[in-house]
Amino acid sequence: MNDAARSPLSFRDPARARRLLDALAHLCAGRESDPLALMHVCGSHEQAIARFGLRDVLPKGLDLFMGPGCPVCVTDAPEIDEAVRLARAGIRVTTYGDMLRVPGSDVSLAELGGEGAPVEVVYSVAQAVELARTSDEEWVFFSTGFETTAVATAAVLLDDPPANFSVLSAHKYIPPAMEIVLEMPGSRVEGFLAAGHAATITGWGVFEPFVARHGRPVVVAGFEPLDILAGLVELARLARAGEARVVNAFPRCVTREGNRRAQDQLWRVFERVGGRWRGIARVPNGNLRLRPEWSAWDARRRHASVLSGRVARAALPARAPCRCGEIMAGLARPTDCALFGRECQPHQPVGACMVSSEGTCRIWHQYGGRPDLGDAE
Ligand code: SF4
Repeated sequence: MNDAARSPLSFRDPARARRLLDALAHLCAGRESDPLALMHVCGSHEQAIARFGLRDVLPKGLDLFMGPGCPVCVTDAPEIDEAVRLARAGIRVTTYGDMLRVPGSDVSLAELGGEGAPVEVVYSVAQAVELARTSDEEWVFFSTGFETTAVATAAVLLDDPPANFSVLSAHKYIPPAMEIVLEMPGSRVEGFLAAGHAATITGWGVFEPFVARHGRPVVVAGFEPLDILAGLVELARLARAGEARVVNAFPRCVTREGNRRAQDQLWRVFERVGGRWRGIARVPNGNLRLRPEWSAWDARRRHASVLSGRVARAALPARAPCRCGEIMAGLARPTDCALFGRECQPHQPVGACMVSSEGTCRIWHQYGGRPDLGDAE
């Protein structure tokens, strides 16, 4: 057994961190005026980067952005509107707590719940099923998240859910979104740090077609400080050498094939379809919808009469626009937004990136990435 396997604290060893930072500085030397642009696509990575203060010690020749890695942030307003409509119709809607305050076109689920509509927070889709078993009413689980949480949704549907339960899927699939980010005008991303937990399910092989198509390297990394730094060193090395390939820097959890059983469950229940990601674009194959054979548990089919027609949009106050889309595309930072830390704060979020604990703006705000507020009170 090596040192790293003996103690989880080995992954926070300062001496090793310094050596990795030295290696990163060496790889980024000479890029100070045109920093190497790397992107990670995971709120958990951003949380770890902020929590351990890694961004402050990265070399000046490296720009590290968080891409569209927050599932709450990319859930589009029309998807929120669907959940709102169902709750307004008296159907009991359950969802994860982070989803409550995300703005829809008209209201958020939190605002609607405050008016007495049947909206409840659950910690898991399994809990949503248990609630549905407590009554004969119609229950809808508003399911969000990437392939990691979609697997849990698939598992409950494969396990004989009650007839009064259905799923409103807003699940997203990450690999196609990486392609969209690269194709955006102004994008300068030279490599991607991929999330180790999602790759535990999909396997690192899922990124090979992307790398072959776009000629950018991908490194799969874990969530401890040394995992992230080691992943960045490898990614910077590949990017500077022009080597487009996938490297697994999280081998203690991730394999090339991934979790075959979980993949089987995921694709038995879901299929990929195109759909909008809030602030990003329409992402081909970026949304996960229930397959037709699951129509009895698909809230969009089961409650089609409630969900048909257009939603009235509330008049929005005149102010500088939310820049979540640019932030998730790596084209801006939270501190570039005029509303950051002023009109937009965690207790009164303007945009989705300030709502979720995985949102870039929320994380930067929480860990001190606040602007100079000047003459603000
Ligand atoms: Fe949007 Fe608020 Fe972030 Fe600005 S600070 S980009 S308004 S979420």
